[in-house]
Amino acid sequence: MANSKTNAPVADGGDGPVSRDWNWHPDLPLVRPTLFDWPPSFGAIFQWLFLRWLGFTPNVIWLALAFALWAWFLPESSAMKQFEFGWMAQIYAKNFVLLCLVAGGLHIYFYGARKQGTRRKFERRDMARNNRMFTFSDQVKDNMFWSLVSGVGFWSAYEIIYFWALANGYAPGLTFADNPVWFILMFPIVMLWSSLHFYWVHRLLHWPPLYRTAHRLHHRNINIGPWSGISMHPVEHLIYFTNIAIHFVVASHPVHVLFHMLFQGLGPAPSHSGFETLLIRDKSRLSLGDFFHQLHHRYFECNYGTSDMPWDRWFGSFHDGTAEATMHVRKRITEMEEPA
Ligand SMILES: [Zn+2]
Ligand SMILES: [Zn+2]
Repeated sequence: MANSKTNAPVADGGDGPVSRDWNWHPDLPLVRPTLFDWPPSFGAIFQWLFLRWLGFTPNVIWLALAFALWAWFLPESSAMKQFEFGWMAQIYAKNFVLLCLVAGGLHIYFYGARKQGTRRKFERRDMARNNRMFTFSDQVKDNMFWSLVSGVGFWSAYEIIYFWALANGYAPGLTFADNPVWFILMFPIVMLWSSLHFYWVHRLLHWPPLYRTAHRLHHRNINIGPWSGISMHPVEHLIYFTNIAIHFVVASHPVHVLFHMLFQGLGPAPSHSGFETLLIRDKSRLSLGDFFHQLHHRYFECNYGTSDMPWDRWFGSFHDGTAEATMHVRKRITEMEEPA
């Protein structure tokens, strides 16, 4: 449902522009129901539980990848009892290669080979070059540097600490045979937890002293690309990956933790791709981008959480993509900047 003619969406696979502000955007206002609506929205529950798991989505890819990594790549638990260079380097190499394949692959597809042109691309601009705001004066090199050095570094360090703790019995383990129902439920629980954690740490990162020190680096990217996903300051990585702590409290299997960290480490690459979907022969094949988070990168003080969770609606920071919502956010920013 479009709110005006200028915002009317184009047909599936069509070319923009569709509005003055965007090259392409989904139907506005964003009205996606969430899991926690009252009275319950069965459509939202169905969408969240089934389409995310039974459809071809990034989450299903992370899930399959987590099982494959556990079966064929993860070192034996007994080998991880001591902090030794070999297996620790193997974990770092795994994450480095995976991020290069996912973020690098999306980048080459959309921005290198331009396989999709500008169809379903939110912003009109391209990645910035010769801009001294970025490290190396180049947005893609800047994003790759912070993602691969600091991002993969912290992601791997947390995984290493967890697998070492599990091997030594300092973190509670779980097998499918112990509790099959709980084993399966842990996957959606991990996603819910991750979304809740992200909302609150992200609000914390917008606290002016932390914003200036750390989060500003991620927000250099107003126009975002796949490599922008985990292009963050080391302090932000330190905070962002702390949600792995749930596995020190709630009994988990290595595959839960691998899935969780793929969701955290690789998930932002498609969601920051700048494209809403991957089109093959003009049909949407894989949902990627997240207009909800794209709005956060343009307007800053809104949409701190994720699109299918209600946190921003409940706490008054929801931007639904309309001009009215932009005015509301600008008013909030002015109020925040005014001395008390
Ligand atoms: Zn972001
Ligand atoms: Zn932010």
